[in-house]
Amino acid sequence: MDDDRQSDDRYEDPFQRYSYRSGLIEALRESGGELVRGRVTVRTARSFGFCWGVDRAVAMVRDALRDHPGRRIWLLDQIIHNPRVNADFKAMGVRFLDGPFADPGAVATLGPDDVVIIPAFSAKVEDVERLERAGVTVVDTTCPWVVRPHRRTIKYVEDGFTTVIHGLVHHEETAASCSLVASRGGHFLVVADREQAEWLCATIRGELSGADLLGRLAPEAASRDFDPAQHLRRVGTINQTTMLASETRAIEAMIRAAIVARDGESDAHESFRELNTICRATQDNQDAVLALSESGPLDLLVVVGGYDSSNTRNLTRVGGDAFPSFHVLGPEAIDGDVIRHRDPSTGQVVETRGWLPSGDVAVGFTAGASTPDTLLGQVIERVLEAAGVPCAAPAGS
Ligand code: SF4
Repeated sequence: MDDDRQSDDRYEDPFQRYSYRSGLIEALRESGGELVRGRVTVRTARSFGFCWGVDRAVAMVRDALRDHPGRRIWLLDQIIHNPRVNADFKAMGVRFLDGPFADPGAVATLGPDDVVIIPAFSAKVEDVERLERAGVTVVDTTCPWVVRPHRRTIKYVEDGFTTVIHGLVHHEETAASCSLVASRGGHFLVVADREQAEWLCATIRGELSGADLLGRLAPEAASRDFDPAQHLRRVGTINQTTMLASETRAIEAMIRAAIVARDGESDAHESFRELNTICRATQDNQDAVLALSESGPLDLLVVVGGYDSSNTRNLTRVGGDAFPSFHVLGPEAIDGDVIRHRDPSTGQVVETRGWLPSGDVAVGFTAGASTPDTLLGQVIERVLEAAGVPCAAPAGS
């Protein structure tokens, strides 16, 4: 972590998002999040879109381009999970070492003249060590909210606790947390949802064998030589910063109850610790969707963001079955009567016909922490177009 950059108050300015501003979104913010256009009531959540950590990371990439003219500027992987933003940086000359935009074989060519940017999600310890060996200049945009669970995992390792992570095993942030634990000689286990947490709890209670537990989880979900009989004696929980907050709370309670069932209430404090590490932006955006649904009619919700963005995916799940939620990548997902969206239950991208009800309709909108305002504004315009309503968007949208 580059502490000088972290404490630099230039990054506190919310208008760092200047390059992705939308006139329509600014008008919605000024109007209290509601505009009526013909038969459509557009309602935006009170909190959505670029978070402080993303604003900061994007600004730091721009600064790196400005501060290191003539040098190769690399991103270790996607800076955030939004294809538009990564494509913009690629167009500005930033190269990628890994991920969908990567230059194959580039890692072997790195040297002291190169600048490598670590994304907001952080990076695996072994990747950072590889950069240090290559002698590159490192710009670390790791979000301070991601550092918090990292600090806690180090404490768990020092105290002899196994870290149980509520997260997605292939997500960069969780992979970095696992790598940190392993580098300190500790052990970890990753559970993605309630079902996987229940397998873990059944093992703690002695109802499922350790071998069955490990056989059901992805190979990367457990640390090397993980021995459930030994390594589940003392566990401490953290979570990926962008998970569904209600699910994290439920999983923590499940694991605690399993430990109490095994050790008894009085001894559980010796063998169980927890820390909810959902970040403020994720919590605020999820709370805002709930508030939106409680404060007025809502026929459907449109969620805008990258399909591999964890926080965006979870915004689609917040409302449960109360109203249909459609997770779209951008305005091109909407073509009149058809909407192309990610189904949260299967993870597949599907097309739904007849998604927009006839007559008066209240459409809620929100966007993930890695979604620029411009994209959300364009999606709102496309929804109005699909409803046969002129947008009359303010200039600059
Ligand atoms: S979503 Fe949270 S953890 Fe991720 S960059 Fe934003 S503030 Fe940081």
